[in-house]
Amino acid sequence: MTSEQRPTGAKIIDGKALARTLRIECRARAQALAQAGCIPGLAVVLVGSDPGSRVYVTNKVRACAEVGVASRLLEFPADVPESDVLAAIRTLNNDPAIHGILVQLPLPPHIALRQVLETISIEKDVDGFHLYNVGGLVLGNAVFPPCTPYGVQKLLESEGIDVRGQNVVVVGASNIVGKPMALMLMQQEATVAICHARTRDLAQFTILADILVVAAGVPGLIVPQMVKAGAVVIDVGINRLPDGRLVGDVDFEGVRKKASHITPVPGGVGPMTVTMLVVNTLDSAERAWRGR
Ligand code: NAD
Repeated sequence: MTSEQRPTGAKIIDGKALARTLRIECRARAQALAQAGCIPGLAVVLVGSDPGSRVYVTNKVRACAEVGVASRLLEFPADVPESDVLAAIRTLNNDPAIHGILVQLPLPPHIALRQVLETISIEKDVDGFHLYNVGGLVLGNAVFPPCTPYGVQKLLESEGIDVRGQNVVVVGASNIVGKPMALMLMQQEATVAICHARTRDLAQFTILADILVVAAGVPGLIVPQMVKAGAVVIDVGINRLPDGRLVGDVDFEGVRKKASHITPVPGGVGPMTVTMLVVNTLDSAERAWRGR
């Protein structure tokens, strides 16, 4: 039966439910560490008062509290000198109670992003943005896979979707989502094409995708005519419409009739991103505890 004949359309991949399951496992791991004498700890560095960033930081701090990871929020005004932020990161690098350091992006323009990311100790780089971890992704042995693509990988695994030999198209080529996603899928032996804003005739690529991952930040970018019948569609986009609604990059109602699997927004990739941050922090704490 093709997906077009399916009476109910695509299976909706429930990221919220998987995130809940993973967080239960995280809680058990945090408890085991605590019983052994190690409280896992995440430091979150927030510069400025961007409301979007604040929401993300609040979600991360809340997820930590939920599973028993201690979090420490360091807030700086938007005009803080770069040297102060770097000094704070160096202090956290040397703090044995901190196992993960996350700098909330974007940073104000006067602060050099790479300088900040490269100052984070590679053992505590739970966002996976340090050059060393990016290099690890290229070689297929990342210490900390970046949280959003890592979450997508877990969603695919949970649905039993084997990416080996599949045609995967990633729409969006950012350093935090599109590029690492493409590298991770290539490592798993998918055939990967990566598209971006300069791609001519996006549809000629997307229509070939067995698995389509979309992270462009453009609401309604992917319409049914661009999707192969039976494709798996992962919508990473998060867009706030003028009427206040939160939507992804995919025309959900249209594409769900054609796809075999689809992630909703909200409730798909988003909850997984925060959860994988907690997973990376616990991995780091366990590694540090074993190596003490
Ligand atoms: P970005 O702006 O850094 O990169 C966007 C990418 O999409 C670029 O490579 C750009 O060339 C490409 N693009 C833009 N318009 C396009 C078009 N019309 N056709 C094809 N490609 C196009 O964004 P980002 O940080 O990678 O985020 C992408 C989206 O994912 C945003 O909506 C963001 O909010 C969302 N996001 C979600 C999560 C999550 O947890 N669900 C995490 C990170 C980002």
